[in-house]
Amino acid sequence: MGLVQVIESYGVELRRSGKELVGLCPFHDDRHPSFSVSFEKEKWHCFGCQAGGDIVTFVMRIENIDYKSALKMLGREQPPKPPKPRPKLNGQKTPCLGSMPCCVTLTSAFGLPKNSNGKKK
Ligand SMILES: [Zn+2]
Repeated sequence: MGLVQVIESYGVELRRSGKELVGLCPFHDDRHPSFSVSFEKEKWHCFGCQAGGDIVTFVMRIENIDYKSALKMLGREQPPKPPKPRPKLNGQKTPCLGSMPCCVTLTSAFGLPKNSNGKKK
């Protein structure tokens, strides 16, 4: 998105005036179009409140955010690095909870003998 599109997306109506576009300044109570945008330079300037800058400055001011956040909003930030994959958990085996085949086999193999119930000497 170019500067003009960004500015217009904030509801600022721009009219062509020579090599520039003019409109009502969104940063002060503007009655006459004193907000001008230069196509060629990709810069904007307000003759009313003396604000001015480039596309990033515009977004910073209108959103009241810092430079980095403005870049992010404009999608001009370098793509963030993908997060590092989590290290694998080495040597940690799933604990046997008794429902594994190994346990079932053990339980039946060492189950209580039938004839040892209640008999004492
Ligand atoms: Zn202004």
